[in-house]
Amino acid sequence: MASLTDSIAVLSGVGPKREQALNKLGIYTIADLLMYYPTRYDDLAMKLPSLALDGEKITFKGIVSSAPVVARFGYKKTRVNFRLLVENDNVMVSFFNQPWIVNQLELGQEVAVYGTYDKARQALTGMKVLPKMAEDELQAIYPSSKEVQQRTIKALIEQALGKYQDQMVDLVPTSIQTRYRLMNKHDTVFGMHAPKDGQEAQSARRSASFEEFFLFQMRLQLLKLMDKSNFGRAVMFDNEQLKVFIQKLPFELTAAQKKVVNEILRDMRRPIHMNRLLQGDVGSGKTVVAALAMYAAFTAGMQATLMAPTEILAQQHARTLGDFFDGTEVRVELLTGSTKAAARRQILEDLAMGDIDILVGTHALIQPDIAFRNLGLAVIDEQHRFGVRQRAMLREIGMNPDILAMTATPIPRTLAITAYGEMDVSVIDQLPAGRKQIQTRWLRGNELDKTVQFIKQQLDEGAQAYVVTPLIEESEALDVQNAEAVYADLSHYFAPQYQVGLLHGRLSNQEKETVMSEFKANHYQVLVATTVIEVGVDVPNATVMLILDADRFGLAQLHQLRGRVGRGSRQSYTFLIADPKTQYGIDRMEAMVETTSGFILAQKDLELRGSGDVLGKRQSGVPEFRVGDPVNDLIMMEYAQQEAIELVSDEKWDQQPANQFLADYMSETMGKYRNFD
Ligand code: ADP
Ligand code: MG
Repeated sequence: MASLTDSIAVLSGVGPKREQALNKLGIYTIADLLMYYPTRYDDLAMKLPSLALDGEKITFKGIVSSAPVVARFGYKKTRVNFRLLVENDNVMVSFFNQPWIVNQLELGQEVAVYGTYDKARQALTGMKVLPKMAEDELQAIYPSSKEVQQRTIKALIEQALGKYQDQMVDLVPTSIQTRYRLMNKHDTVFGMHAPKDGQEAQSARRSASFEEFFLFQMRLQLLKLMDKSNFGRAVMFDNEQLKVFIQKLPFELTAAQKKVVNEILRDMRRPIHMNRLLQGDVGSGKTVVAALAMYAAFTAGMQATLMAPTEILAQQHARTLGDFFDGTEVRVELLTGSTKAAARRQILEDLAMGDIDILVGTHALIQPDIAFRNLGLAVIDEQHRFGVRQRAMLREIGMNPDILAMTATPIPRTLAITAYGEMDVSVIDQLPAGRKQIQTRWLRGNELDKTVQFIKQQLDEGAQAYVVTPLIEESEALDVQNAEAVYADLSHYFAPQYQVGLLHGRLSNQEKETVMSEFKANHYQVLVATTVIEVGVDVPNATVMLILDADRFGLAQLHQLRGRVGRGSRQSYTFLIADPKTQYGIDRMEAMVETTSGFILAQKDLELRGSGDVLGKRQSGVPEFRVGDPVNDLIMMEYAQQEAIELVSDEKWDQQPANQFLADYMSETMGKYRNFD
């Protein structure tokens, strides 16, 4: 039986080669093809038969000049014939196997007919009748490739529309369609591919966007339910021990830190599975919060793990936690890709015995041979760098631990609803007291000397400085050359008083680690670096961040870099050296000077770049949508969320006939989403 999940190979004209080419466009099944929506429409100007090409798909508008008749031939085959007077030319029109067409037409009527033109016979094989004279006939334009051209895509979609139109079912329940005046699925799909006018195209797009958002939100809500009903384990931590530990910290937690610590501990104590995102600007003190949660797990007799996106960050975390738990019984170990085989074996053994309390590492942690004795909590740093699949694997190896993901990538409110997905969110919206606001200056290239003199004064006062060199045309080799040149200049300038270090992507992990620790130990006073220092690296004594050609960086990256300073009690500075040639470059420099809030910058970034650009970006963590635009259509996304929440709040939602197609679809696409049945 025909099904939308059929491979596109079932269509005529699709052989192995074309199938592959379609796959490259993301089209595997009939459903993919039918949902391969046009990106825009061209007005189909009325053409005269004399100007039409042989074999062209074309719309003729004219007057029915001979009474349409149905001819029968062969076994159950029919043909409707009539003449159409287009300006001064008569065109013979035939529709095959659509006898009902005859009832839609009458002599003298003005119609538009879409079909394939046979120039020699001056005949049109009709595909569609547009009974009302459309004001603006629209031609769908699809994203195409070299191997698959517009007209191929069109023809295949037409074929699929014909063969599968009865298979299209409404995933959005009818009651919801009515509430938002949406088209049903059949009309939506036809309206997207072959709208009769701009208005129909618009409503079809609205309906298609809603469906997309709604299915997305359904997925999120079901994932949330799944987490809640999944018996995570209650982490029964020792509150007294934890309190004592917090009192011994060298600083008082900020109100925001206290709030999120409570949210996390509350989740951990409950026998549900925690899936929480901890969001806070750089320097807001997320690491401390994570450390407290891990300590809580420790007091409950459980293990914890912390995963970082890069080796250098994992090393730093291991060191920070080592210092943090100095004087306690907590044993912290580091496991990364470069851990030697013998050491690795020992770590795995101790881990399985429960002798290691906290294991810090990179992705290398997620290996099938890693077994914790009793993993209670997994912390993931910079969560947007980890895929959903990796998080799922983490659960599998670790007996379904509570998950705390951390991110310093502020997401503007307009994207939050989409980007956070199925996670609960805790936000640290406050910096530790006593922090001096970082001063940011934007300077021109010719002011560089002056800036370097200023850095020297800072070094004279005992501080340290970063100098960041930019990406050049995405070429690592050139980046390194550039960094080396800057390094040579500055070494010369500061010699013999001050030492300069160099950090770039071509160094081995071991070398990077050495350079970083030398800088941290103040053996280097200046560190020249490419963006490898982007996240997480913590040197409180560094007070200057000098960014060369700053307009080559995006706002998010500049903000991350600026977050490397201002970590101690001294006044810190960020200097952006840039001579931007575009308004966009100027706007970004000005935005950086105006605010230090990551949230405001993220919103600004969105406005400057336009949603289209941001959405695909890995940094934003927002999934991509086919039709809908989660920024411009935020309100629709909010409605879709409300409806999804409302729907699944009824435990038996998937047993109601009205939701049958939706329920089938969700369980097919998500695997089994319910635990008890
Ligand atoms: P994040 O991971 O959010 O960028 P960190 O946890 O690395 O921030 O904290 C940045 C610095 O601030 C660290 O040196 C940390 O010890 C310090 N810190 C964290 N919380 C506080 C606080 N409440 N008061 C003072 N300093 C703090
Ligand atoms: Mg951090």
